[in-house]
Amino acid sequence: MPGAPLGWGAVVAAAVEAVSVSRIYPGGSEVVRAVDRVSLSVAPGELAILVGASGSGKSTLLNLIGGLDRPDEGELSVLGIDMAASGEKDLARMRLTRIGFVFQAFNLLRDLTLSENVSLPLEGAGISRSAARAEARAALSRVGLAELGDRFPSEVSGGQQQRAAIARAVVGEREIILADEPTGALDSTTGQEIMRLLSDLSREGTTVVLSTHNPANLPFASQVVTLRDGRRIQAEDAVPTTEAARP
Ligand code: ADP
Ligand code: MG
Repeated sequence: MPGAPLGWGAVVAAAVEAVSVSRIYPGGSEVVRAVDRVSLSVAPGELAILVGASGSGKSTLLNLIGGLDRPDEGELSVLGIDMAASGEKDLARMRLTRIGFVFQAFNLLRDLTLSENVSLPLEGAGISRSAARAEARAALSRVGLAELGDRFPSEVSGGQQQRAAIARAVVGEREIILADEPTGALDSTTGQEIMRLLSDLSREGTTVVLSTHNPANLPFASQVVTLRDGRRIQAEDAVPTTEAARP
């Protein structure tokens, strides 16, 4: 519309928009609906937490959002891209340039320094080695590891390894961090530090979606998505279901 003020009528696109998404695995006598008709919407810069017992579908949902896996049903749009319709090459490119993953076990390459670990995805994306090294330095300083780039993973603490893994996930200005139980292997104090770091990154504009089963992490969330048996449930329904878990 000519003459309309900038942004007039503009729609802010969601970073992640899932509508009734399912991932179905063939089982023995019946299929497993690992993710069962889940809908969710995550705005840019949010820190969304997927919470639920082991086996509730958190990792499967994160893998769908990150394009490591594809939905069998429903609609899934990530950064405006239709994930079901995208080819392998496009998804791989997205994971190198727009989406970063963080795992419970850090998954750093042990024979590379922290700095080399962080610059690796950029080199994979075709950026020159010197430019990649400069970006890696910037990412390491963003996570408070400016001085430790030349150390190997075995030469730093678990919390520092997870910081390096987060640097690897954000390097090159990636737009979304997906973190699968990022505090699961850390003591509670270090876990809270990692949550604070992820929260700071989200405040700077990076969208964060993470899974956890630690309730201490929930106050960091702008949105909590509770899963049970692959389904999204209301948080107030998330009471323990086994006899053993009852007080
Ligand atoms: P969570 O991360 O919450 O522990 P998962 O997403 O790993 O849960 O698993 C959800 C359900 O899907 C579980 O019942 C699990 O056994 C099943 N599942 C996950 N991956 C596969 C697979 N590759 N093949 C068959 N079943 C799977
Ligand atoms: Mg999991």
